Amino acid sequence: MSKYWSPLAASLVPYVPGEQPKDKKYIKLNTNENPYPPSPKVLEAIREAANADLRLYPDPTCDALVRKIADYYGVRPEQVFVGNGSDEVLAFAFGAFFDPADPILFPDITYSFYKVYAEFFGLKAELIPLDERFEVPFELFDRENGGIVLPNPNAPTAILAPLDAFRGLLARNPDHVVMIDEAYIDFGGQSAVELVKEFPNALVVQTLSKSRSLAGIRVGFAIGSEELIEGLNRVKNSFNSYTLDRVALAAAIASFDDEVYFRTTTERVILTREAASDKLRQMGFEVTDSRANFVFISHPAIAAKTLFEQLREKGILVRYFNQPRIDNHLRVSIGTDEEMDAFLTALQEIVAARR
Ligand code: PMP
Repeated sequence: MSKYWSPLAASLVPYVPGEQPKDKKYIKLNTNENPYPPSPKVLEAIREAANADLRLYPDPTCDALVRKIADYYGVRPEQVFVGNGSDEVLAFAFGAFFDPADPILFPDITYSFYKVYAEFFGLKAELIPLDERFEVPFELFDRENGGIVLPNPNAPTAILAPLDAFRGLLARNPDHVVMIDEAYIDFGGQSAVELVKEFPNALVVQTLSKSRSLAGIRVGFAIGSEELIEGLNRVKNSFNSYTLDRVALAAAIASFDDEVYFRTTTERVILTREAASDKLRQMGFEVTDSRANFVFISHPAIAAKTLFEQLREKGILVRYFNQPRIDNHLRVSIGTDEEMDAFLTALQEIVAARR
């Protein structure tokens, strides 16, 4: 606490980012980064963008990238908004669409930034409990609300919900925005982007951080009806009128131009995830049916915290949640095959030592 802080700053309970350790080199399976580098074409575009034009401001409306994303998803450019990572897009959306009069709804176990944004914008939030299998109980969202936020697949559970469930939710809430956070959709899910043509209240948010290996340059985007995109631009232009820098813009555009690389690397992550899930189950772990680039696991006899600590000692970082309902689970990002082999071997040693 400081006397210099505004009442707003004093009231905040900020999000704590996943650990980025500096003490030694770990096999890092804790923040859902892609184990593969960005496309060589992206790296080339970044080198080209690092030129004298950096003295000039970037395009405030990011037209070239907006058009690229619109073409890629078969929507109009007026239906696309881009931001510095999907975290920023989500923050603007919380400010643009949710009414403090009614509580916004999101699951009790989900991306913890939603709660932070709700508090930042002075919104009431009602947490809807996931069912005992960690699935989203869509029927419980049929209550008075000021808007709904749902990730698909959900995080950290990794479970995908069917598109029809979202169609129903959108139809039953025509007066409120339903925001679908698709940070992990490219790892085997079907995007809800097609629903934005049908529902003016649908906002789909995606990121280039995971499936496009670009967490380091911070690019996310939203697709929705023109009126929703206009709402996001109103908030953005009241905060920072320049969105992405020139280098990030060039990199993001190049990423959408290399579809083969995108498909090859996401497919590789999916194959590694399936193989790791099988092996974990054979070792006695419970593993949810993941459609993301991470798995959500628990062991019936060994506490997750113990596993987390012993893996860390062996130089492998995973994510432990000190939080009700999931404090006996770990979230493990999918690495390369070699990294996953090292993780599984270390885990096998820990399990064997406890017998
Ligand atoms: N949504 C979810 C569900 C996430 O897990 C993350 C990654 N932490 C994000 C959004 C934000 O990703 P980024 O800001 O890198 O686009």
